Amino acid sequence: MSTFKDQLETKLIHASSSEDIEQRTGAVNVPIYLSSTFHQASFDHYGPFDYSRSGNPTRQALEQTIAELEGGTRGLAFASGMAAISSAFMLLSASDHVIVSEDVYGGTFRFVTKVLSKFNIDHTFVNMTELAEIEKAIQPNTKVIYIETPSNPCLEITDIESVVKIAKANNCLTFLDNTFMTPLYQNPIDLGVDVVLHSATKFLSGHSDIIAGLAVTKDEELGNRLAFIQNSFGAILGTYDSYLLIQGIKTLGTRLRQSTDSATKIANYLSEHPLIEDVYYPGLPSHPGHDIHVKQSSGAGAVLSFKLPDKETTKIFVEHLRLPKFAVSLGAVESILSYPAQMSHAAMPKEEREKRGITDGLLRLSVGLEHVDDLIVDIEQALHSASN
Ligand SMILES: *Cc1c(COP(=O)(O)O)cnc(C)c1O
Repeated sequence: MSTFKDQLETKLIHASSSEDIEQRTGAVNVPIYLSSTFHQASFDHYGPFDYSRSGNPTRQALEQTIAELEGGTRGLAFASGMAAISSAFMLLSASDHVIVSEDVYGGTFRFVTKVLSKFNIDHTFVNMTELAEIEKAIQPNTKVIYIETPSNPCLEITDIESVVKIAKANNCLTFLDNTFMTPLYQNPIDLGVDVVLHSATKFLSGHSDIIAGLAVTKDEELGNRLAFIQNSFGAILGTYDSYLLIQGIKTLGTRLRQSTDSATKIANYLSEHPLIEDVYYPGLPSHPGHDIHVKQSSGAGAVLSFKLPDKETTKIFVEHLRLPKFAVSLGAVESILSYPAQMSHAAMPKEEREKRGITDGLLRLSVGLEHVDDLIVDIEQALHSASN
């Protein structure tokens, strides 16, 4: 064990280096081990790998990487963020109850309401910024409190430590979706969270190329239980994608810091523009969750939302923008603009949507790595067209 305490940026590069695996060749990249099965050299002593659903050396390098980055003991890689999230929910049993953040990611909302409910696992959605609401929702069979902070698309902030305290006092586990912050900015395990989850499709891989999910636990026994589910349910990340994700993670530090700088400039620019009614970005001191965010996270991230007056203006604005891709998803090298009312929250009745602040004029921007001046010039000309 090394006595040096490396910064996260250093770990991003070196956590996956597999001297133990690659002693023979010295390859600086983890090899892609395309092997479903592994020869057992001895009749009664088997090696560390037997079958790639249960364990694959490339995937293992990735799993050890995310465990190290999050400060956990066990990392697990899944076929998608939703596979990681739903596998974590499989830690529950019939007749358990979960408390979930009401502005949780749409796929998580769908899994909790349409799938978990079939197994007699009940749920209550609460506004996680109101701690009293969480306490009120606790039942004798509540087993998990599920947090997403910042949330999507209005970037509301949950006080992680306070929720963990409520959970511990009531013998519940806490799960936290850390997709927007990544271990670069937010370390939920240090704050007492039990299971950290990621859609690694977003910032961790960073190039809009793969779909992947990760989970990390601090407690070894909990990690073993989740690994058992990973192997039993079988929604593992493939070997090629494990390799691509390892490569993506290496540049996370530089990518996310630059995108955060640009997002801050764009948020400030939009706040000053007369056509923009509201800007949601935890880096703005005017954001209602700003103080809590600064306390628990070291960066504001690269995602912001803003509100235009109505659908017509929004349509003209989007049609005039040149640089951002108009698409779902986020966290990539290219800027991505999405329209929650017709994309992520299309299935939600208009009234429910608007209650959550998702109006027909709300847009979400994930800021990429283009030059920020080019992005602002582009936004400016599109806003100019929309103003006329
Ligand atoms: C995209 C996303 C997910 C789902 O991940 P997939 O990789 O698409 O399955 C979960 N949570 C958040 C916050 C996301 O942005």
